[in-house]
Amino acid sequence: KTPTGLTTFNPRWIRVNALKTTLKESLSSQMFSAFQEVGGMSDMFFSEVVRKYYYPKAELLPDIFAIHPSHDVTSNELYKSGEIILQSASSCLPAIMLNPPKGSTVVDGCAAPGNKTTHLAALVGSNGKVFAVERDRRRAEILERMVAKAGAEKIVTTLKATDFTTITEGHTAWKASYLLLDPSCSGSGILQRVDWDISKLNLPSSNVAPSQPSKKKRKRDDSSQKCSVSQHGEQETQHVDEEVQDSDTSKERLQSLSDFQVAIILHAFSFPNAKRITYSTCSIHAEENEHVVARVLNSEIAKERGWGVQSREDNPLSTWHRRGLVGELSELQVSPKEQQRIADGCVRVSRTDGLGGGFFVVCFTRQVDGEDQLG
Ligand code: SAM
Repeated sequence: KTPTGLTTFNPRWIRVNALKTTLKESLSSQMFSAFQEVGGMSDMFFSEVVRKYYYPKAELLPDIFAIHPSHDVTSNELYKSGEIILQSASSCLPAIMLNPPKGSTVVDGCAAPGNKTTHLAALVGSNGKVFAVERDRRRAEILERMVAKAGAEKIVTTLKATDFTTITEGHTAWKASYLLLDPSCSGSGILQRVDWDISKLNLPSSNVAPSQPSKKKRKRDDSSQKCSVSQHGEQETQHVDEEVQDSDTSKERLQSLSDFQVAIILHAFSFPNAKRITYSTCSIHAEENEHVVARVLNSEIAKERGWGVQSREDNPLSTWHRRGLVGELSELQVSPKEQQRIADGCVRVSRTDGLGGGFFVVCFTRQVDGEDQLG
């Protein structure tokens, strides 16, 4: 096996909840005290033991580490107390890219089950504010539980059963400077979940994980979107196996998702104080990614308000190698050079990159006079 084995074996990613603990504290806790640090993701699978952790020391992924996917984290105290959160590395990218300053106000426009909401809360800290908007009442309840477990109740205001596009003038959230948009998508980047049975791992000398892990089909939990929610409230993170189940990625469905995603972004463009907006999907389809970027940048409101794509060198994920597909931006009414700059500003994660699933994220920016109005 070579490191390309990562197409089959993805690690289990863990985000340390900075509202409750630190990376150092978590790694020295009882659960991980016997673990060895390894230098790269592939080392997770291609050596003698499975008690290993890896963390990317680069600023690219702060407060995140990976362990072998066979470990059951959900029965551990750190998980139960909300000190650590199961969240794929790719799903951590939007909040990192948005990079809201401490004490700022953020709107999470499509929030449940709340992985990114709680991540944002950790970034803005106790003097900041996150408005978590969720249209689906049942999912909003899961979101509230996740926020409580993460110790973020004082930072997060949940707007239950609220459609993001109904937030307009007069609402406190309307004055926010930063928005994170992670709307429903086809989920075509999601990896099939595999339940690891550690007893089959032939420890301590196995150097790879079991050849026939059992697979569970994920269910779609509503007609328009693709992030299922476990009873614990976290979005089921996408471990292992690049095969995608259930993919209604017909032209019609992608078109309707894309129309919906465009509408969400265009609404965000109208927030009067907004200066940075991230848009993300767990889709690998250009129709939901670069095409959406081209459509919103061609819009009247983008031109009127001066919205553009943050350049690669200005975004916190500048060192990530996989960028947007310039060939998919041909609808964009700008010069080829500008198309290239915009493609480079986008971040793509492939299903085989080992970050827990295929993903897309872009940050829209514009110049705004003055600082965060809600401070
Ligand atoms: N950001 C979430 C996380 O990291 O845990 C995952 C979000 S999931 C991909 C999309 C969510 O957006 C779903 O819970 C869906 O119900 C919600 N949603 C879809 N349309 C919406 C709208 N117009 N306003 C608010 N929420 C919406």
